[in-house]
Amino acid sequence: MASISFPVGSTVAYAVPILELTGAVHQIQATFENGDHVFTSSDFKLGTVRVAGSRALIGRLTFRYSYDSSNKIITVCGTNYPSADGMTMMTMPEGMDNEACFEHAAATGFLADEVYRGGKWNYYSPLMPGAPERIKNIVRAANDALISALGEVPDLTVRVREILPELPVEDYLALCFVTRDGRVLEKYDPTKLYGLDDELHTPHSTFMGKEEWPDKIDFANVIGSTSDPRPPSKSWLDLWRTTMERDGPNCASLGFPEDVSCSGTSVGGHVICGRTAQKVDTGSNDVRIIPICRGHNGRNSTYMRTMKERWVVVLNNYMQ
Ligand SMILES: [Zn+2]
Repeated sequence: MASISFPVGSTVAYAVPILELTGAVHQIQATFENGDHVFTSSDFKLGTVRVAGSRALIGRLTFRYSYDSSNKIITVCGTNYPSADGMTMMTMPEGMDNEACFEHAAATGFLADEVYRGGKWNYYSPLMPGAPERIKNIVRAANDALISALGEVPDLTVRVREILPELPVEDYLALCFVTRDGRVLEKYDPTKLYGLDDELHTPHSTFMGKEEWPDKIDFANVIGSTSDPRPPSKSWLDLWRTTMERDGPNCASLGFPEDVSCSGTSVGGHVICGRTAQKVDTGSNDVRIIPICRGHNGRNSTYMRTMKERWVVVLNNYMQ
């Protein structure tokens, strides 16, 4: 069982004649149990609404999570992950639960089912200009705060579900490859006609999201076969950057071990947890992408450690 607390709310007040958001921030206490669950927070007060008399506007957060307590891995939705499983804030005038509106962190949902429900309370109205954006921002910030609070729990791996980010066409193509009889044949060539049994693997079929590893965890290279048609390329590094929406360090393992000095440009290295560089089984879900220098990437005799970077891209169904 893991416990955290994270903030929800906005310090910026909002007021129109029928709605006031007071600008308060509340701490949400969350405890996670083994298995798949939907978390529901206790209620908190967001402000005051005047739709059926003057009533407190109540907020309540829900999100789905999956917690593997034996391996200490928790999975939640990313802030942009367009799923009803993601962070959702219900808002309702006090005592009017059947009027609850549902706002998701990501752009998703069906307004008729989730907002225009009871008819009395909804903030998608010219009477409350700008209110949808403010409420959306509160939900998004709450999810970011949840992920960062989980990242502070010692020894916990935080897996964040994401959809494949938009990639330049040349990057997308560079990450596509073809397998034949369970083995990688070559990089996908769009001008070529492949056999009926050949299988096309796109980044959509392997990308699962991102993961924040615990501090100072050991990892090692995935050993590619000599005919590996997918050397660690700029495309993998670009996939990492696009997923994280930022540049990474030149090398995640900077200064470790002490006798290895980082050299060469960064690549998106294929790595696994642990201290032994190894080949991985076909279809493995253990492969991750992390920025490392070419020096570390080419050195299989030693392992690395998360000195500069804890976020990795999660790949499933890895094929060698
Ligand atoms: Zn390095």
